[in-house]
Amino acid sequence: MSEFDYDLITIGAGSGGVRSSRMAARTGARVAVVEESRAGGTCVMRGCVPKKLLVFGSHFAHDFGDARGFGWHVDEPSFDWGELIANKNAELDRLEGIYQRILRENKVDLIEGRGVVTGPHSVEVNGKTYTAERILIATGSWPHLPDVPGIEHAITSNEALDLQELPDRIVIVGGGYIAVEFAGLFNALGVDVSIIIRAGNILRGFDEDIRDTLADEMEKAGITIHRECQVRSIEKQGDIYSLRLHGTETIECDTVFYATGRTANTKGIGLEEVGVKLSERGGVIVDEYFQTSVPSVFALGDVIERIQLTPVAINEGMAFVASQFEGRPTPMDYTNVPAAVFSQPPVGTVGLMEAEARQNGDVDIYMSRFRPMKHTLSGRNAHAMMKLVVDSESQRVVGCHMVGDDAPEIVQGFAVALKCGATKQQFDATVGIHPTSAEEFVTMREKVPETDEEC
Ligand code: NDP
Repeated sequence: MSEFDYDLITIGAGSGGVRSSRMAARTGARVAVVEESRAGGTCVMRGCVPKKLLVFGSHFAHDFGDARGFGWHVDEPSFDWGELIANKNAELDRLEGIYQRILRENKVDLIEGRGVVTGPHSVEVNGKTYTAERILIATGSWPHLPDVPGIEHAITSNEALDLQELPDRIVIVGGGYIAVEFAGLFNALGVDVSIIIRAGNILRGFDEDIRDTLADEMEKAGITIHRECQVRSIEKQGDIYSLRLHGTETIECDTVFYATGRTANTKGIGLEEVGVKLSERGGVIVDEYFQTSVPSVFALGDVIERIQLTPVAINEGMAFVASQFEGRPTPMDYTNVPAAVFSQPPVGTVGLMEAEARQNGDVDIYMSRFRPMKHTLSGRNAHAMMKLVVDSESQRVVGCHMVGDDAPEIVQGFAVALKCGATKQQFDATVGIHPTSAEEFVTMREKVPETDEEC
């Protein structure tokens, strides 16, 4: 009999923690997961899932408008934000139940409360100590708010998903995933949306043509983007917020929303006290097998600040379980991780940006910009962009990028092709499905001519 209560105690029942715990339990390990909030974590309770439900809800605004061009006439549709939020919350309750059931059925004990690491093999929850051979930190991340006078007036994505009422005017600070996703959904629902970005463009880290195309589409849809702009202070005057920008410029709104990144949840859970090394930003430092500086303590998911995406945390969890419980040391493969932004229109991307690929050698670029067929009748002034980045020498497709309807669904499939090392010739040899937007990826034949401009 082991000297410990458990073989594994996981702190955090989010995507990474639940997957790791249940897969470890399936190998026969005795596992407990500690959670201070709701089983499901950020993705299910405060992130991907509720956001996507609201994005679906907002799409109907476009659909009612688009339908007219196809001969449909509906009386002026009305929208009830409160009803959408209530239905979304009911779905989250259902999902929480499913997560609890998954843990139960896999014989993982759910310990409710805040877990604090008190030693290399011990975790304290609500004053009680539990011991384990291994401890896994899967505590995720939390919205980061910069130090700006009046920042206490700002909401984050946590509150944005549960607003009592839709504001008339919202200012969103930040130009990353969360900012552009919420900008799109609020704009579709009739809110006057402004984005404030400190850089020259939205979506740093994405291919330049994605950034330009999405910014254009967002501006065409009525979203104002204030570029190279910083908020100096936020003041509340009655129900109105006044944001002071450079010099004397101010901007007023009913809601200020900060989407300025997420930081690792590592504070107050005993990590540094037991010797777990953290990065300057506060993320847990781990090796390729997710082991921290304390050999019995591991960490994965948002808390290690590698790629903050749910499927990455899940795959890290699978690699951790293979390495620690199945005797198969398995590092996580971070190449060609596809990603999507549920902006309007959405983005799908996998592989290298053009600028990154050019650092490795010569590239051939294939690009298509077009008005999707649906909008020839809907009349909507919306465009799509698709782009392939090909390594000139090997002819392997190293980057696949799209802005346009269904981009996340389309790029998921092409991510398999990139993972398999597909060449441009193999793309060309693939028969398209007509009429679709996706077929552009297998029918682009003309390279974008090289210019002398520095990339
Ligand atoms: P991101 O890192 O995507 O974007 C942060 C934005 O905030 C950037 O535009 C950044 O500007 C800006 N910013 C950072 N600090 C400041 C500051 N002090 N003042 C002004 N602007 C600032 O973070 P998000 O919060 O949007 O999302 C967090 C993470 O969650 C994402 O990185 C992603 O991994 C994940 N996520 C994934 C989603 C998906 O898969 N669809 C959806 C939502 C979130 P700059 O570019 O100049 O640095």
